[in-house]
Amino acid sequence: MTVVGVDDTDSRTGGMCTTYLGALLADSLRAAGATVERLLLLRCNPAVPHKTRGNAAVGLHTDCEPGRAFALARGLIEEHAMVGDPNTNPGLVVAPHGSDAVPGTVAEFARRAVTGHLDTEEARELCSDHEYRFSGWENGRGLIGALAAVGSWPLPDPTYERIAYRERERWGTDREVDPDSVFAAADAFYPRVWDTVDRETGEVVCVPNTPCPVLSGIRGDDPGSVAVVADRIEGESVERAETFVTNQGTDAHLGETPLSALRGGYCYRSDGRVASEPETREGGHVFFTLEEGEARIRCAAFEPTKRFRDRVRALRPGDRLAVCGEVSGGTLKLEKFAVRELNRFRYRNPRCPDCGRSMESAGRKQGYRCRECRTSALGKERVEVDRDLGIGWYEVPPTARRHVAKPLVRGGFDAPVHPER
Ligand code: ATP
Repeated sequence: MTVVGVDDTDSRTGGMCTTYLGALLADSLRAAGATVERLLLLRCNPAVPHKTRGNAAVGLHTDCEPGRAFALARGLIEEHAMVGDPNTNPGLVVAPHGSDAVPGTVAEFARRAVTGHLDTEEARELCSDHEYRFSGWENGRGLIGALAAVGSWPLPDPTYERIAYRERERWGTDREVDPDSVFAAADAFYPRVWDTVDRETGEVVCVPNTPCPVLSGIRGDDPGSVAVVADRIEGESVERAETFVTNQGTDAHLGETPLSALRGGYCYRSDGRVASEPETREGGHVFFTLEEGEARIRCAAFEPTKRFRDRVRALRPGDRLAVCGEVSGGTLKLEKFAVRELNRFRYRNPRCPDCGRSMESAGRKQGYRCRECRTSALGKERVEVDRDLGIGWYEVPPTARRHVAKPLVRGGFDAPVHPER
């Protein structure tokens, strides 16, 4: 058996996509008489600064002889990758063992690629240590994702994406897809198939707007359902389609970490108490401070998270939360949060029992007095506040979801969920 890993074939302006290269390679291997057992789409750490879009790497598991697989993959990268663009640094790794025989050091490297920061040198050294065939173009950074894709099997929580690609002459033009057919298919398979549409806004989420070759990507919990939904979509003709097994929709990027230990460039789940009233700033971004002991962090729900910002605005100081998201520039960009405790009370000057008016302070440590009736009270009054939030998890809508973030509808959370459909 042979495992092939490929990464970094696209550029920000370019019309390529590493998954498309994976699909081309799968067809080349089949044409060479080999079997492709599976295609794997690995989302690495979404906080790395040099990613093009979703930090994807691709792996293929095949019975093709390693030397032949390497030659085929190298030929395709040289033909199709956007080599020459300063942002494109392709990497190719071919391991001469089955996907079930990944050495521990390579599996560990793959885990760190999803949560941490790695360098190309370590990837080269590991490839040499294990006598893998490998090749890096330009600065060779793609070797990191390529080796991570090689080391990522079995996935602890596999999900699936059926990706349909466009006819080449249509690349860069507007996509023609019938939204009614997308909604009908998505509704028939929800929630096994998720993040296909946004039912609240009527938007189609599974069709990208970038110049890349992807026509649609249908994500879900099983390969059969994503394939049926993809087949039911009506629109322009499909050049080819493949089903990838992925770590998308799994929260694999989050490390459970105390608030005092959060650092920029990583993605976390952390606990704390709301310490400031949420504030909407210019551009519609909403901010509040979360604290735990001495530690504090600014949390943000940015404008593209749309209605999620209403959930954040409904928070009050004193609420106890778990928050998930990437830390960057001292701010945690919220992907989801769980309300653990709600602060249901506020304190106000006591009301006069005779006339009902608000009493006034009678001076420092002298309690409160009604101006009219001269009645007095010792301290403030506690009143219950109506809250628009319940205990449990809240998330960004499908349009704002990161590829690797787990939709609440997938289940397995430690509190009730309030999913966005
Ligand atoms: P493409 O379609 O080209 O794959 P992308 O959005 O997936 O686009 P890349 O262009 O692949 O992004 O850029 C990500 C780069 O970051 C790759 O070179 C990859 O090897 C590297 N990389 C991935 N994970 C890490 C990590 N944890 N630490 C450092 N570099 C990483």
